[in-house]
Amino acid sequence: MTRVAIIGGGVSGAAAAYFLRAKQNLFPSQLKIDLYESSHRLGGRIFSEYRNSLVLERGAEGLSGRDTSAMELMEDLGLELVRPAALPLGIGCGGQFEVIDPEVLRPSLRGLRHLLGRRLISTRGKLETALRVLTRSFRDKDTHETSLARYLEESWGSEAAQRIFAPVYSGIYGGSADELSSRLAERLQGGRCAGPTKSALFSIATGMSSLVERFVELSGAQVHLESPITKLFRDSDRWLIADAPYDAVALCIPAPQAGALLLSLDQEAAKLLSAIRFTSVITVLLEIEPIDLPEASGCLMQRQNGLRAVSFVSQKWGHSSRSSSFVRGFFSPHRHLEDHDLITLLVNEIEALCGVRPRVISSLVDRWEAANPLLSVGYERIGARISEAVKALPGVFIPAGVYHGAGITDCINGARRSADLMADYLTSFSAVRSDYEHRISA
Ligand SMILES: Cc1cc2nc3c(=O)[nH]c(=O)nc-3n(C[C@H](O)[C@H](O)[C@H](O)COP(=O)(O)OP(=O)(O)OC[C@H]3O[C@@H](n4cnc5c(N)ncnc54)[C@H](O)[C@@H]3O)c2cc1C
Repeated sequence: MTRVAIIGGGVSGAAAAYFLRAKQNLFPSQLKIDLYESSHRLGGRIFSEYRNSLVLERGAEGLSGRDTSAMELMEDLGLELVRPAALPLGIGCGGQFEVIDPEVLRPSLRGLRHLLGRRLISTRGKLETALRVLTRSFRDKDTHETSLARYLEESWGSEAAQRIFAPVYSGIYGGSADELSSRLAERLQGGRCAGPTKSALFSIATGMSSLVERFVELSGAQVHLESPITKLFRDSDRWLIADAPYDAVALCIPAPQAGALLLSLDQEAAKLLSAIRFTSVITVLLEIEPIDLPEASGCLMQRQNGLRAVSFVSQKWGHSSRSSSFVRGFFSPHRHLEDHDLITLLVNEIEALCGVRPRVISSLVDRWEAANPLLSVGYERIGARISEAVKALPGVFIPAGVYHGAGITDCINGARRSADLMADYLTSFSAVRSDYEHRISA
């Protein structure tokens, strides 16, 4: 029997189990997959909450449909997709609310016209932006990686960069534009001069958690909940995990935890993984008595109090009922605030946006210490070094989403690639094993 251990029951681990099972016909013997999860539930940063007939997301709310293979996969899994209402996004500033046309995020004449007609930046800022956009084609197209903040300033001028574009990118990737890489501007649209356009987001009608559950169900993996893995041993040609022997193991846990597991096995990989920084976010989900919110899916905030964005959940996902609606605030945890302080800040902001103080029916505060890997300058290079370093450990695989995944689609793609590599390794297991033994004895 071929035995594989998957550590981590989030979407990376669940998808790795699913893709590996899809290759079971390659294995001469039976394939057994064990999935170890430290907490009492599967899903990790995917966490759906079910209330009567409503699905509320406490973690990730959707996937990017820019990669069409993700949507095809959902169909293969038999999951019904839902799209958010076709509403614009707003930017909030000092109680003001301005809708932004996604086209404004491109350095185009149409985007420029839209921006010039808005109160988002001063007249001086608008002149600077106009100059930047209009002279863009005469400037050198510098393709060097730099900080996102610098790239945005060069493209749109400093005021527009700081007040409009940086909040958009921080809202998507976490972290500040000073820390993030300019590669993200390319990554979002597949071209250096592009910015984010219309929402390609979609979600799952039965909740994002059903994606993880479906992967696990179809993988036939045996799930071990409340089973934190704290040690990984090499015992002759197999890995020992929770006293059981495995031919291969996939570490599908956030990079620093993966680094800690590898500390006594591979210093280089452990050091690189442990050095990956993560962004943190606190989410505050409020159930409120219905009020008239701006006609938008949500609002990016230009605030010093840590509030980065507010999602008008009910409007966005069509959840409204006569008795209540939902909004969700995203805070950067730059200073410690108690739950009730965060709730008050969010209520104050909603009041400033709509002129009516919302009455709170219920609230949920979640503190996500490791929301996303911080994709700082050089992150692709570091990712390549990690994947090289891990190759020195026969039978150990780490999906790339763990160290430079910007979301669920990246995690799924990383898991698919790891499952392919794992299947190749397991089918040529004997050859690799003898090579490893030779190196150990040398
Ligand atoms: C608030 C929030 C909103 C987000 N919104 C979106 C969104 O809308 N769209 C999007 O694409 N992405 C979004 N993301 C990011 C997305 O959720 C993550 O990229 C993705 O879920 C990560 O999945 P993962 O399996 O790699 O990691 P995780 O979900 O963190 O799963 C890792 C699992 O491993 C377990 N574990 C850790 N250590 C051990 C151990 N030693 N032994 C056993 N188990 C262990 C953990 O308990 C966890 O369950 C959001 C993230 C947050 C926090």
